[in-house]
Parts: sequence; structure tokens; C-alpha cells
Amino acid sequence: MSTESQQEKQSLSGRIAVVTGGCGGIGTAVCARLAREGAQVYAADLRGGDTIKADEVIFHEHDVSSEESAKFLMAEVERQHGRLDILVNAAGIEIEQTIEETSLEDWNRIFAVNVTGTFLTSKHALPLMRKAGSGSIINFGSYDGFIADPALAAYCATKGAVHALTKAMACDHGAENIRVNAICPGFIDTPMLNSFFGSSGDIESLKNEVRRVHPLKRYGTPEDVAGLVNWLAGDEARYASGQLWILDGGLTAQVQQMRL
Ligand code: NAP
Repeated sequence: MSTESQQEKQSLSGRIAVVTGGCGGIGTAVCARLAREGAQVYAADLRGGDTIKADEVIFHEHDVSSEESAKFLMAEVERQHGRLDILVNAAGIEIEQTIEETSLEDWNRIFAVNVTGTFLTSKHALPLMRKAGSGSIINFGSYDGFIADPALAAYCATKGAVHALTKAMACDHGAENIRVNAICPGFIDTPMLNSFFGSSGDIESLKNEVRRVHPLKRYGTPEDVAGLVNWLAGDEARYASGQLWILDGGLTAQVQQMRL
């Protein structure tokens, strides 16, 4: 295939994208997919590492809980490109505790990353999207923002907050052609999922049991999620905004999904 016809098939050719948590399980796959579709991608994360596979992906150190860091990141994108087209807020942490077990410090920390992080990076991205004349912001909620897993209380609360924030942002910025959506994954095979299972007893049998209760009989992969990010980021999704897109292999379509 000629370079020219390859470019024609790329849906995000020339777009500028920032992916927070871009070196994590889902973030790495998202960066790779957006780059493959022709975008120039900034993987904005606490640490780099060997997860960045494409020349079109640039690592930028970013702590989503810091407003200074958000300003610095967006100033760099503005200096290099003068605009931003796509923001994926994929940075996140999980704490496996009930509220009685959760310290105020841990509660504040998870809100600082999952909720304040989404707020701050989005806030400082908006002026650059305005310069682009349009934009797509993709937040990360969770099926845990709708229904609860045991001992994930603070995490569930943060994801419910991200869902509400997503709708509010979509309402406020739709007239500027800035679309805001959230992807709400179920069980996706990443380091975060491993840490969730890592605190349990017989991990392998539990993992198999969880697979079994999924209608599709498997976990999602980061690439499954990257496919939905790619669609929401691009022009085919031009009328999609303010929605919470559950991607869970059918898990929550069932009446009793978690009979473990
Ligand atoms: P992950 O593999 O743990 O990746 C998260 C990334 O965020 C890591 O690279 C992490 O860096 C980074 N990060 C943490 N704190 C940060 C901060 N203050 N500033 C910038 N980056 C920070 O998790 P994942 O599974 O890819 O999850 C991505 C998103 O999907 C999260 O919002 C998560 O809640 C959501 N989600 C995941 C699942 C799932 O099953 N995996 C299900 C539902 C929702 P370090 O590793 O250095 O801490």
C-alpha cells in the first residue's frame, strides 16, 4: 500500500492528542492506537518506561493532581502545535477498601487523581481546543460508577463523580463543538486489574470465575478500549457527546452479574 493511501485510511491524521496515564495498561494501548491513526500523541504520565512504542508518541511527565503540571503540559502542547484536538483522561488509581478502612489521606488522594485530575487537565486543555475550533475529551469512568464491587468504596465514589462531571462538561462546551464522553470499562486486563485480584486468596480460580460470569467469557483487553477511544476521538462520532459508554463484555447487561 502506498504511503498516500495509508494516510487516507488513517482517521486521525494530523490531530494532536494528550493521553494522561499514557504509560499505564489502557493508556499505552490508547497512545499506540491514536498514533497508528495518524495523531501526534503526548503520553502524559508520572513515569515513562518502555511502554512507548511509536515515534509519534512523546512522553511528557505529568502529575494530574497538580494544576502547575497541567499548565506546564498544555503550555508545551501550545508551543509545539498551537492547539489540541483530543484529550484522553486515563490516569487513575484504585484503593481496595471499605469506607471504615479508608483513611482521609487515601480518600483525598484517590479523589485528587481520579476526579481533580480529570478536572484540571480538562480545564487547561479547553483553551487549546477552542483554538482548534473543536475537540474531543474522553474521560475514564467505570462500571463501578454505576454499581459497586465489594471494598472499593472510594474508587466507586470517584467514578460516579467522573460520570457526573462528564455530562456537565458536555453541556457547558457543546456549543463550542467540544464533545465530552466517558468510557466506563468493566474488567480490563491491566496492572490495575492484577492489583485488584492480587489482594484475594485463590487468585486463579477467582479470575476464571469472573471470566465465566461475563457473557463474552473473557476480560476486555486494553486494545478493546483503545478501539472505542479511537471512535470517540474521531469524526465518525461527531454527534456523540455527554454519554457514559459501558464497555464490559455484557457483564452489567445481566440481572445478577456477579454470582461468585
Ligand atoms: P493502570 O494500568 O494502573 O494505569 C494507570 C496509569 O495512571 C499508570 O501509568 C499510573 O502511573 C498513572 N497515574 C497514576 N497516578 C497518576 C497521576 N497522579 N498523574 C498522572 N498519571 C498517574 O490502570 P488502567 O487499568 O490502565 O486504568 C486506566 C483508567 O481506566 C483508570 O482511570 C481506571 O480507573 C479506568 N478503569 C480501568 C479498569 C480496568 O479493569 N483496568 C476498569 C474500569 C475503569 P503509575 O503506574 O506510575 O502509578
